[in-house]
Amino acid sequence: MKIPFVDLKKQYSLIENEIISSIKAVINDTAFIGGKYVQNFEQQFAKFCHAEHCVGVGNGTDALFIALKALGIGSGDEVITAANSFIATSEAITMTGAKVVFVDCDPNSYNIATDNLDKFITKKTKAIIPVHLYGQPANMVDIQKIAKKYGLYIIEDAAQAHGAEHNGGRVGTLGDIACFSFYPGKNLGAYGDAGTIVTNDAELAKKCRMIANHGRTEKYNHQFEGVNSRLDGIQAAILTVKLKYLEQWTEKRRTNASFYNRYLQRTSVDRPEELAGNRHVYHLYVVRVTDRDNIVAELRKRDIAVGIHYPISLPFLEAYRYLGHKNSDFPVASQYAEEIISLPMFSELEQEQIEYVCKQLVDII
Ligand SMILES: *Cc1c(COP(=O)(O)O)cnc(C)c1O
Repeated sequence: MKIPFVDLKKQYSLIENEIISSIKAVINDTAFIGGKYVQNFEQQFAKFCHAEHCVGVGNGTDALFIALKALGIGSGDEVITAANSFIATSEAITMTGAKVVFVDCDPNSYNIATDNLDKFITKKTKAIIPVHLYGQPANMVDIQKIAKKYGLYIIEDAAQAHGAEHNGGRVGTLGDIACFSFYPGKNLGAYGDAGTIVTNDAELAKKCRMIANHGRTEKYNHQFEGVNSRLDGIQAAILTVKLKYLEQWTEKRRTNASFYNRYLQRTSVDRPEELAGNRHVYHLYVVRVTDRDNIVAELRKRDIAVGIHYPISLPFLEAYRYLGHKNSDFPVASQYAEEIISLPMFSELEQEQIEYVCKQLVDII
């Protein structure tokens, strides 16, 4: 059996007719950038997040950058984020001119540790970017308390967590502003780059919309310099079709995770834990093992596609060498980077395939 890591073609084959007619409609209306398809998607996605406002942008990285800029963050400021994420999170902070401050992860959730977050707060700290890594919400109760105490903004990096929930609140509404990516492999994926910003703050939404569109509200009336980061009509139309299925696809991911949990019970494989009060949307199903590299090589030899998210924690990337961090600054993230494996996870994955992956994994161990 050959098991792919994700199978976007299989998903496409289930919705092909709807996708094709939605693309045709956009072309017929020449609504390529902005326009009614974008507006419609923004409304639908805000509703999906139980939020007031949604601003479509070019990609998830831009969403983070624009959100930070809209909050007035820039040179001289510090922004705290998780040591284990994709580089886009920290990149967006640096792009504003602010300084990135990395914090180690919690051993159970893999998300930013909140027990000694206070220690990283200085007079320059303006915001925290919790990343809902792998689809599991960060410890937002603690983060909200700390943010309130120190007067910090919360920018959710929800790129991996469309539809996730924490204590009944939906990701996208757990901070001041939230950023989503619709990179093709994400839980809601476009057929190219796309992203969005979600907030309940009308002023902030307006500011983001202006920054994303050259600092203007209307043509040739530029209040300030912004950037060009807009959502395409075609991507918006595709996303609108796919959004209808997202709840159903998310439930499938959750069912798949429960199959994995079942087949990996009573093995030495460390399984992901859905923390109390959380709805995990399993963008990734990440386990931990010892002797990871050999196990990954053997899984690949057996035609099982697996990933590592991420093999090097952000502070130890060449790009952040200048920060001068040591492994002992991030003991959990450093250890986990050596042990994690992302097993195949997507909605269309079948129970027999999951059983097969688990059997092979246990056999190799
Ligand atoms: C994918 C991702 C991003 C960036 O999204 P793009 O749309 O690829 O720019 C940001 N943060 C995290 C955690 C991601 O996984």
